[in-house]
Amino acid sequence: MDFKFNCSLVEKYTNNSQKTRVLTEDWVEHNLYCPVCGRPYINRYENNHPTGDFYCNFCSSDFELKSKQSKSDKLSKTITDGEYSTMISRITSLRNPNFFFMTYRNYAVQNFILIPNHFFTPQIIIKRKPLSPNAKRAGWTGCNIDLSSIPESGKIFIIKNQLEIERETVIANYARTKSLQTSNLESRGWLLDTLNCIERIPSKDFTLNQVYAFESELKQKHPDNNFIKDKLRQQLQYLRDKGFIEFVTPGHYKKI
Ligand SMILES: [Zn+2]
Repeated sequence: MDFKFNCSLVEKYTNNSQKTRVLTEDWVEHNLYCPVCGRPYINRYENNHPTGDFYCNFCSSDFELKSKQSKSDKLSKTITDGEYSTMISRITSLRNPNFFFMTYRNYAVQNFILIPNHFFTPQIIIKRKPLSPNAKRAGWTGCNIDLSSIPESGKIFIIKNQLEIERETVIANYARTKSLQTSNLESRGWLLDTLNCIERIPSKDFTLNQVYAFESELKQKHPDNNFIKDKLRQQLQYLRDKGFIEFVTPGHYKKI
């Protein structure tokens, strides 16, 4: 993989966001394989295609590319995305593409992450302020994707700090998350929220009480649920069945 952009493509462009789009999309088209099935390349959709920017015609996965210039090695916590209501309706109809998130510096790719579509819930989409009445598109409301609400397992690195992750590892990491796929958005939300809490416990071994410590935080996310602890125990069972954690002794668990 060559991390550098082909800058000769944009010599005639003056608009910066247009430049970025051309450079980043060209990079993906010429360097990336399909991280879902391993096919050696992916195809580009025509501009403004409703289901994304790229697709794999072997496994029929769709991908949308978001990119951001970065000044530090730290990944940003949010990605700016398009219109809020469009994004929410895509998620609620379970028709959103997988996401590629690229950060670049000095016209070269720094990080490249795959976020599988089944990690998207309406809770991670943050509404932005509508554009002011004087703006060209007055009232238009965009959104940000809150990356910090996505469990680490849902951020699959393809390139990390200019190091390419082995292709087999990427595909295996994606395959592992497939078991979290569920067509019910509410259960998806609970499962991902629970996984996110567990990942934030620093040790590999943890107890039920450590999971219960997230009760008030989860109550804020799910205000209608009055049985958070019961829900958490149920989610721990799901995560065990899906191979993410192990039950050691009653009330004691281990991350796998
Ligand atoms: Zn594929």
